[in-house]
Amino acid sequence: MRRQANGRQRQSRFERGDDLVVMKFGGTSVEDTAAIRRLIGIVQSRLGAQPVVVVSALARVTDQLLEAGSAAAQGHLGTALAIVRSAYVRHEQLADSLVDGSAYSALDHELRDEFRDLESLLHDLEVSRALDLKSQDHLLSFGECFSSRLVKEALCQAGINAAHVDARACIVTDARHGQASPVWDVTEQRLQQTVSPLLESRRVPVLGGFIAATYDGVPTTLGRGGSDFSAAIVGAALCASRVEIWSDVDGVMTADPKLCSDARVIRRMSFDEAAELAHFGAKVLHPSTLAPAMRENIPVYVLNSRRPEGEGTEIVARAKGGNVVSAITAKRTVAAVEIESTQGVDSELLRAVYAAFYRHSCAVDLMATSLRHISLLVGSTAALPLIAADLRGVADVRWENHKALVCLVGENIRRQPEVASRIFAAVADMDVRVVCQAASDRTITFLVEESKVDESVQRLHGIFFSQPEPARDWGGISSAFCQAG
Ligand code: ADP
Ligand code: ASP
Ligand code: MG
Repeated sequence: MRRQANGRQRQSRFERGDDLVVMKFGGTSVEDTAAIRRLIGIVQSRLGAQPVVVVSALARVTDQLLEAGSAAAQGHLGTALAIVRSAYVRHEQLADSLVDGSAYSALDHELRDEFRDLESLLHDLEVSRALDLKSQDHLLSFGECFSSRLVKEALCQAGINAAHVDARACIVTDARHGQASPVWDVTEQRLQQTVSPLLESRRVPVLGGFIAATYDGVPTTLGRGGSDFSAAIVGAALCASRVEIWSDVDGVMTADPKLCSDARVIRRMSFDEAAELAHFGAKVLHPSTLAPAMRENIPVYVLNSRRPEGEGTEIVARAKGGNVVSAITAKRTVAAVEIESTQGVDSELLRAVYAAFYRHSCAVDLMATSLRHISLLVGSTAALPLIAADLRGVADVRWENHKALVCLVGENIRRQPEVASRIFAAVADMDVRVVCQAASDRTITFLVEESKVDESVQRLHGIFFSQPEPARDWGGISSAFCQAG
């Protein structure tokens, strides 16, 4: 029985105490034979509990599929086929190194069939000369189909009673291709119907992350990096006791370690802090991952598959005390949009602006208004010409590209006035705009030129993390806190 964030109790059909663990392995954690052997060892170490495995496509495969798709849609079928054939060879070589005998023949057969379907899709794209989001989802779904079949067989070969589950038959989403959202009740029902019987017979289900399908079975994806979200969806639907995100870093860190070599692991943080960090660009977690975990009060662990003995980061409902700034992140390729109306900003104009952004599925990161202006930040300029056309006669729409949002996250960061002054003293020589402290107690964000973003993050990291880490005072998991947060 699990207590949800809203205090209700929920029971899954599979009720084996508190031992169901969803383990998600990202692209680098399945990239080659050595990585898959490490994965097998990690899954073996969890057999005392009941693992459910979610895997991403092998590292770089999703990008290669995209490249092949756009080559085919531009009429370069030869290039497209060469890309997928090299991916096929890579999967075959892995299968050969990990699986023997009749299991190898069966896997080989499955991979051949899947690659044949992929080639036929590329032929269709060459004919249609278009790669829309619907075809793109179909194309990208192959990556996780290949990897999940491969990992399932590799686990079986190691003596683990694994079973492949097609995520497209269980995770049901809306038809917002490229960034679909789950339809919760149907998804929960399908996952319980499909996965619970496997768990009851002590099998280890293996699903591809990132991929799903509409109610009618049309393939969809959950947005780039979406396997983390898949793991949280599966965990929430099956009332898991924990969700583990196995990646190539020691946990969630005070900054991207590729940018700040002295970044350190955050041992524990709150769902809210982690969600803000993911929302503002920390690639280590897909931005939607924390919502289902938070709703069902399931702790999430971020761990390093290359160093499985590490403690990683524990993300739970409540975290207090410690460093006032928990982490610094940045969201790149942001555009600053300025909407000007000579009539002034009123509720009529706001309604028209919201409607135009909604119509063209353009997500807004931050918004501020003044007498005659609305300032917005968006992550993609693709829809802006259409939005400007819709608002013609009502307001003028202009935008500037190549901006980035720098975000400092920490419980109660805004309640410490000296933090803001330290931040802005550190970047005083940069063209800092659109400072936002109002939207959340946990973040301070500001806009800089994209060319300055690395330097801003590094300077701020130097200021806030040059001292040894103070001890944190941790409260227990509290559903009341979750409701309030
Ligand atoms: P996976 O393939 O396992 O899903 P990702 O590449 O999606 O891995 O995410 C892991 C990467 O996230 C790390 O290699 C790291 O560069 C990046 N990253 C960005 N911000 C952070 C952060 N605050 N803490 C840890 N890693 C971060
Ligand atoms: N393979 C997908 C991607 O590269 C999903 C994931 O890795 O989580 O975006
Ligand atoms: Mg990822």
